[in-house]
Amino acid sequence: ATESNGTNSRYQYDAGVTDCLFCRIVAGEIPATVVTETDTTLAFRDIDPKAPTHVLVIPKEHHQAVGDLDPALAGQVLATAHQVAKSEGIDSSGYRLVFNTGRDGGQTVFHVHCHVLGGRALTWPPG
Ligand code: C5P
Repeated sequence: ATESNGTNSRYQYDAGVTDCLFCRIVAGEIPATVVTETDTTLAFRDIDPKAPTHVLVIPKEHHQAVGDLDPALAGQVLATAHQVAKSEGIDSSGYRLVFNTGRDGGQTVFHVHCHVLGGRALTWPPG
Protein backbone atom coordinates (compact mmCIF):
# COMPACT_ATOMS: atom_id res chain seq x y z
CA ALA A 1 0.00 0.00 0.00
CA THR A 2 1.24 3.47 -0.71
CA GLU A 3 -1.47 5.46 0.99
CA SER A 4 0.23 5.99 4.34
CA ASN A 5 3.52 7.34 3.02
CA GLY A 6 4.24 9.35 6.12
CA THR A 7 1.77 12.14 5.45
CA ASN A 8 -0.63 10.94 8.14
CA SER A 9 2.05 9.95 10.61
CA ARG A 10 1.85 11.00 14.22
CA TYR A 11 5.63 10.99 14.48
CA GLN A 12 7.66 13.30 12.30
CA TYR A 13 10.53 10.77 12.15
CA ASP A 14 8.40 8.15 10.39
CA ALA A 15 9.74 7.80 6.88
CA GLY A 16 6.69 5.81 5.75
CA VAL A 17 6.74 3.26 2.98
CA THR A 18 9.29 5.15 0.92
CA ASP A 19 12.15 3.96 3.13
CA CYS A 20 10.68 1.23 5.27
CA LEU A 21 12.80 -1.79 6.13
CA PHE A 22 9.84 -4.08 6.76
CA CYS A 23 8.06 -2.99 3.56
CA ARG A 24 11.25 -4.03 1.79
CA ILE A 25 11.12 -7.43 3.51
CA VAL A 26 7.48 -7.81 2.38
CA ALA A 27 8.58 -6.91 -1.16
CA GLY A 28 11.37 -9.50 -1.03
CA GLU A 29 14.05 -6.84 -1.46
CA ILE A 30 15.69 -7.70 1.87
CA PRO A 31 16.05 -11.34 2.93
CA ALA A 32 14.27 -12.62 6.01
CA THR A 33 13.67 -16.04 7.51
CA VAL A 34 9.93 -16.35 7.04
CA VAL A 35 8.08 -18.50 9.58
CA THR A 36 4.61 -18.20 8.12
CA GLU A 37 2.44 -15.81 6.16
CA THR A 38 -1.17 -15.08 5.37
CA ASP A 39 -2.76 -12.83 2.76
CA THR A 40 -2.36 -9.86 5.07
CA THR A 41 0.44 -10.73 7.51
CA LEU A 42 4.03 -11.94 7.48
CA ALA A 43 5.99 -13.59 10.30
CA PHE A 44 9.79 -13.73 10.21
CA ARG A 45 12.61 -14.33 12.68
CA ASP A 46 14.11 -11.32 14.43
CA ILE A 47 17.66 -10.75 13.19
CA ASP A 48 18.85 -10.17 16.79
CA PRO A 49 16.82 -12.62 18.88
CA LYS A 50 16.22 -11.80 22.55
CA ALA A 51 14.83 -15.24 23.41
CA PRO A 52 15.01 -18.78 21.93
CA THR A 53 11.87 -17.89 19.96
CA HIS A 54 11.81 -14.31 18.71
CA VAL A 55 9.55 -13.80 15.71
CA LEU A 56 8.12 -10.55 14.37
CA VAL A 57 4.59 -10.51 12.96
CA ILE A 58 3.71 -7.57 10.71
CA PRO A 59 0.81 -6.52 8.54
CA LYS A 60 2.01 -6.57 4.93
CA GLU A 61 0.47 -3.14 4.48
CA HIS A 62 2.46 -0.26 5.92
CA HIS A 63 1.10 1.14 9.15
CA GLN A 64 3.27 2.81 11.72
CA ALA A 65 1.90 1.72 15.05
CA VAL A 66 -0.65 -0.62 16.57
CA GLY A 67 -3.12 2.24 17.02
CA ASP A 68 -3.10 2.78 13.25
CA LEU A 69 -4.48 -0.72 12.53
CA ASP A 70 -8.14 -1.24 11.95
CA PRO A 71 -9.54 -3.87 14.32
CA ALA A 72 -9.79 -6.56 11.64
CA LEU A 73 -6.14 -6.23 10.63
CA ALA A 74 -5.04 -6.01 14.27
CA GLY A 75 -6.91 -9.26 14.86
CA GLN A 76 -5.18 -10.89 11.90
CA VAL A 77 -1.78 -9.89 13.31
CA LEU A 78 -2.72 -11.40 16.69
CA ALA A 79 -4.07 -14.57 15.08
CA THR A 80 -0.81 -15.02 13.17
CA ALA A 81 1.16 -14.39 16.38
CA HIS A 82 -0.81 -17.15 18.10
CA GLN A 83 -0.21 -19.47 15.12
CA VAL A 84 3.52 -18.78 15.47
CA ALA A 85 3.39 -19.56 19.20
CA LYS A 86 1.76 -22.89 18.37
CA SER A 87 4.15 -23.79 15.56
CA GLU A 88 7.15 -22.80 17.70
CA GLY A 89 5.91 -25.10 20.47
CA ILE A 90 5.61 -22.36 23.10
CA ASP A 91 1.84 -22.05 23.27
CA SER A 92 1.50 -24.27 26.33
CA SER A 93 4.67 -23.18 28.16
CA GLY A 94 3.84 -19.51 27.63
CA TYR A 95 5.10 -16.57 25.64
CA ARG A 96 4.90 -12.81 25.35
CA LEU A 97 3.50 -10.53 22.64
CA VAL A 98 4.97 -7.03 22.57
CA PHE A 99 4.22 -3.97 20.46
CA ASN A 100 6.91 -1.41 21.20
CA THR A 101 5.26 1.88 20.31
CA GLY A 102 6.81 5.31 19.83
CA ARG A 103 9.81 6.84 21.53
CA ASP A 104 9.18 5.79 25.11
CA GLY A 105 8.05 2.35 23.98
CA GLY A 106 11.43 1.80 22.33
CA GLN A 107 10.10 1.43 18.79
CA THR A 108 12.97 1.54 16.30
CA VAL A 109 11.28 0.28 13.12
CA PHE A 110 8.20 2.33 12.25
CA HIS A 111 6.25 -0.43 10.54
CA VAL A 112 4.08 -1.94 13.25
CA HIS A 113 5.33 -5.33 14.44
CA CYS A 114 4.31 -7.76 17.13
CA HIS A 115 7.25 -9.44 18.88
CA VAL A 116 6.53 -13.09 19.72
CA LEU A 117 8.97 -14.02 22.49
CA GLY A 118 9.31 -17.32 24.29
CA GLY A 119 11.26 -20.48 24.86
CA ARG A 120 12.55 -19.36 28.26
CA ALA A 121 11.10 -17.83 31.42
CA LEU A 122 10.79 -14.13 30.62
CA THR A 123 11.36 -11.56 33.33
CA TRP A 124 9.02 -8.75 34.33
CA PRO A 125 8.96 -5.77 34.40
CA PRO A 126 10.71 -4.81 31.16
CA GLY A 127 13.57 -2.31 31.41
O1 C5P B 1 10.26 -2.89 18.63
P1 C5P B 1 11.44 -2.43 17.83
O2 C5P B 1 11.07 -1.41 16.77
O3 C5P B 1 12.60 -1.96 18.66
O4 C5P B 1 11.93 -3.75 17.12
C1 C5P B 1 12.56 -3.79 15.89
C2 C5P B 1 13.10 -5.18 15.75
O5 C5P B 1 13.44 -5.42 14.39
C3 C5P B 1 14.35 -5.44 16.59
O6 C5P B 1 14.11 -6.53 17.49
C4 C5P B 1 15.40 -5.79 15.53
O7 C5P B 1 16.30 -6.79 15.97
C5 C5P B 1 14.54 -6.27 14.36
N1 C5P B 1 15.15 -6.18 13.05
C6 C5P B 1 15.12 -7.30 12.23
N2 C5P B 1 15.67 -7.24 10.98
C7 C5P B 1 16.24 -6.11 10.55
C8 C5P B 1 16.27 -4.97 11.37
C9 C5P B 1 15.70 -5.03 12.63
O8 C5P B 1 14.61 -8.34 12.61
N3 C5P B 1 16.79 -6.10 9.34
